[in-house]
Amino acid sequence: MLIAIDTLLVAFLIYRLLLLAKGTRAYQLLIGLLVFVLALHLSDVLRLETIHWLLDRMTTLGPVALVILFFPELRRVLETIGRVEFWRSSLGVNPETEPIQRAINEVVNAVQQMARDRIGALIVWERKDRIAEGNGVALQAEASSPLLRAIFSPGSPLHDGAVILRGAQIVEAAVYFPEISQNPDIPSTMHTRHRAGIGITEHSDCIAIIVSEETGQITAAVDGTWTQNVDADHLRRLLSDLLTGEARPRMLARMMGTALSGVRKGRGERKPTRSSEEKAVQGVTAAPSDRSR
Ligand code: ATP
Ligand code: MG
Repeated sequence: MLIAIDTLLVAFLIYRLLLLAKGTRAYQLLIGLLVFVLALHLSDVLRLETIHWLLDRMTTLGPVALVILFFPELRRVLETIGRVEFWRSSLGVNPETEPIQRAINEVVNAVQQMARDRIGALIVWERKDRIAEGNGVALQAEASSPLLRAIFSPGSPLHDGAVILRGAQIVEAAVYFPEISQNPDIPSTMHTRHRAGIGITEHSDCIAIIVSEETGQITAAVDGTWTQNVDADHLRRLLSDLLTGEARPRMLARMMGTALSGVRKGRGERKPTRSSEEKAVQGVTAAPSDRSR
């Protein structure tokens, strides 16, 4: 009886792990791992001694290989759980939302005006994962509409690249992201600014807001999906939901999600819905103008 429960539990754990990792690099690795374990077991049962000896030797390298393969993801998880905000939000302690709400209004106002004036902009709002890593110009300023517009105005030395917000602060400007999204579903009219914005959301839980210089359209991207042509109200609602966090992710799902988010392929496949939070995101982004996927 106990053995049956034990086996069922292990099977369930493996099943959940596979579901979580489906469509990611981790999925292929997990499948590879299962094949390896199966081969190890079979070689033992069939008494293929040399093969079994060889596979058995390789198992000692396993943990080291996993650490090397998942080094960026492990670092991200450790960094994330080392921060006070992570525990605060995971334990449901609501951080002060009023400054964030004010910042949201400022950002929406700036974005609206830049869209009207056809000024290109890329604003990336951090949530739990760190994006600002000192690649741009460091700032420590309260997010305000005039400041954002000044940064992105074509004559400004900071107008090229992205602005990064953390909480209610602008922490960096003129940030160039090394990778742009390769998602084939991105319309051909969206070039590097949009692809850089969508790309950064494929690798972390941030929100990207893109104002097109060419069309004056506002695009919001989260988790590798995007909504084109959002209006001010929609953007405000989306930002409020995601930044002041109505729907809180469960802690384990969040940690696993963080670990896996860095290894998602930037292609068009749909990822597994991991938490109530993502359902909220999909709900908000499913506006009539939703052009993503
Ligand atoms: P728009 O609709 O505004 O023209 P777009 O999607 O067509 O945008 P581009 O015309 O190629 O894109 O925009 C170029 C600008 O995008 C650059 O001047 C720069 O400010 C920004 N940009 C391009 N690549 C990156 C990147 N990797 N990281 C951050 N910003 C970038
Ligand atoms: Mg362009």
